[in-house]
Amino acid sequence: MAVSVDTRRLKLTNEEGTEGVLLGFCCQECGIHVFGPATFCQGCSSSNLAQVELGKQGILYSFTIVRIPPQGWPGDVPYVLGQIELPEGPQVLAEVVDCPHENLKIGMAVELTLRLVEAAEGGSERVVYKWRPV
Ligand SMILES: [Zn+2]
Repeated sequence: MAVSVDTRRLKLTNEEGTEGVLLGFCCQECGIHVFGPATFCQGCSSSNLAQVELGKQGILYSFTIVRIPPQGWPGDVPYVLGQIELPEGPQVLAEVVDCPHENLKIGMAVELTLRLVEAAEGGSERVVYKWRPV
């Protein structure tokens, strides 16, 4: 069975790990959304936060082409690291896939896509979140 690479940020919604949603929090005082775990609001410092599921589409806010990957990077090199802005406001940093580099454009619409990363010996397959052009 596949497992989320980070259950605080990605909830899988089927057993194969091909469907899922990003998780975050919405501040009940000021309405700001954050991606991933939070214990208080970065806007108003309230701790009155509710967990929410974030949208599966966003826009490419910024990107960089990584030619020297971090140690242990399991994917192709070079790869595109994108900063994606979600409709709710927070930004998510992740790889942009299925897009030739010359087609990358700031402001383009992208959608969430999940990929399996091979398990280390004896471990479960990990599901990671990435973005692709809509
Ligand atoms: Zn707040």
